[in-house]
Amino acid sequence: MTRVERGRLLVVEDEPSIRELLCASLRFAGFTVASAATGGEALDAARTGAPDLVLLDVMLPDRDGFEVVRRLRSSGVRVPVLYLTARDGADDRVTGLTIGGDGYITKPFSLEEVIARVTAVLRRTRPGGSEQLTCGELSLDVESHVVRRGARVVELSPTEFRLLHYLMRNSGRVLSKAQILDQVWAHDFDGDIGVVESYISYLRRKVDGTEPRLIHTVRGLGYMIRP
Ligand code: CA
Repeated sequence: MTRVERGRLLVVEDEPSIRELLCASLRFAGFTVASAATGGEALDAARTGAPDLVLLDVMLPDRDGFEVVRRLRSSGVRVPVLYLTARDGADDRVTGLTIGGDGYITKPFSLEEVIARVTAVLRRTRPGGSEQLTCGELSLDVESHVVRRGARVVELSPTEFRLLHYLMRNSGRVLSKAQILDQVWAHDFDGDIGVVESYISYLRRKVDGTEPRLIHTVRGLGYMIRP
């Protein structure tokens, strides 16, 4: 499945109802989510799971969130942290931010707020910081325009990039040549459907030269990308 890779999150919260609500909502919003219920679990999960961001409850049963961050930082883990807390004291904010947090979300929070804050931090901290589309071992970064097949970076012309982007946004769906012409060549071209065939073949040569093939011809209908 092609999906939008919004980032890997670790949710640390000892209250099961809040933890489950956060995990479900963030997954629904497109994040990959792991969870932990204690500071100890959080340390293990952050060290082994390589999350892009940790949502960290301050009041945990075994050690507080600040201590978790102190330990992570001292073992070289630089992951961004957003604290979740019911405590709203100015001192706590200062402590949390000083020891390497990226901000605070005060309970009770709205899920929209959590998603907005997470997205803002990831935009700032993730390499490329943008949306990635993936299909099998092919990935396309929407903002940086970097396309990779496995570890190999593939150089595409602007038109080839637009074509691949359109295919990947519609992974698993058959797109007719007319649809592709309309979407990819839009306003600057009123031409021949043959140009679609040509560009599909350029694209195949560049990104689809190895098995498994991802770009499929659906005879009589058009093209489709899928793993
Ligand atoms: Ca708690």
